[in-house]
Amino acid sequence: MIEGIYIHIPFCREKCPYCDFYTVKLSDHDIPEYIRYLIKELEIYLREYEFNIKTLYIGGGSPSIISPRYYNTLLNYIYKELGTPEEISIECNPEDYTKDDFAHLRDIGVNRISLGIQTFSTRGLSILGRKHTPSRAVKGVEDTFKAGIENINADIIFGYPHQTVEDLEKDIDILIALPLKHLSAYLLTFYKDTPFFHIYKDFKRDEDELAEMHNLLTERLREAGFKRYEISNWAKEGYMCKHNLMYWTGGEFLGIGVSAWSYADNKRWGNVRNINTYTEKLRKGEKPVEVSVNLKREDLFTEYIILGLRTMRGINKYSVFIPEHLKEFFEFSDFNISIKERYLLLADEIISELLCYNKLPREELCWKLKDLHP
Ligand code: SF4
Repeated sequence: MIEGIYIHIPFCREKCPYCDFYTVKLSDHDIPEYIRYLIKELEIYLREYEFNIKTLYIGGGSPSIISPRYYNTLLNYIYKELGTPEEISIECNPEDYTKDDFAHLRDIGVNRISLGIQTFSTRGLSILGRKHTPSRAVKGVEDTFKAGIENINADIIFGYPHQTVEDLEKDIDILIALPLKHLSAYLLTFYKDTPFFHIYKDFKRDEDELAEMHNLLTERLREAGFKRYEISNWAKEGYMCKHNLMYWTGGEFLGIGVSAWSYADNKRWGNVRNINTYTEKLRKGEKPVEVSVNLKREDLFTEYIILGLRTMRGINKYSVFIPEHLKEFFEFSDFNISIKERYLLLADEIISELLCYNKLPREELCWKLKDLHP
């Protein structure tokens, strides 16, 4: 049963130098036509799958560089066919929408806004190639709030080149003074094939400084009333992102739009990463799928470990074998294990080491992997 829908809006004004998402220049494309193709793609899956939609997430790209009015038809179609999801999120750049635009989104059912703030440092924004100013980022949050949408997330990046612990501290000071309910703080990754990867190929990050930044985030956000529930995500009570929780706990979802990924019936599939091929395939009535993988039982088990250990609830402790040398990294509760908060910066290394000892699900527990999800 599909519980969530992700919609990819690939348009951006310019490519940020650290970004590895599939994006295209807005000026080269016809927006109403793209929206029509999104609906066409959804129609194909409506005939094939059962849906009980709880969450809808519009991401990108930059969904906010097109007028919010473009979302009327798309959302109305989804409401008509599938009912109204509990949580409807849209990613916005802080510089794009006015208070009236946010009010329009609220009127058509959007109840969660995720703002790509990244940092409030002018120098940091320039290093990251972002176009907004720190004051515009603050205004973006205030306008969203004044428009009556209270479930607001801010995405921030830490560990970008030349950022100091003091820079991050200033970001946190501003963030906790704003009416935010959710924070996503991502350690910058230098993805291969991005300009950043080449520009900073000889740049060495100071591991101690990164650990200090991580500790600062952990402590200051806790003091400010945010509860961490995933490696990169903190929320005030009652505001965890339902859509992302669905990903991490093995829920089935449909991704529509160019380059979107889906998961259902023990299968993951990804759409083509070219907007012309995407529309071309749909014009011919074909699914715009480029890659599809049937997940075997051991693949599902690996995903269960990888995704589950990203969350603070962790995974069922009886489902895995934990070798002696890894025990110090884990918190043990009655039923679950999770990675201790102070070791979360090392989560990838801890998880891959654990996976070496857990290639196959333990027979007595694996017959229904979904039941293991916390
Ligand atoms: S705005 Fe977001 S999606 Fe677009 S290029 Fe920048 S980081 Fe990537």
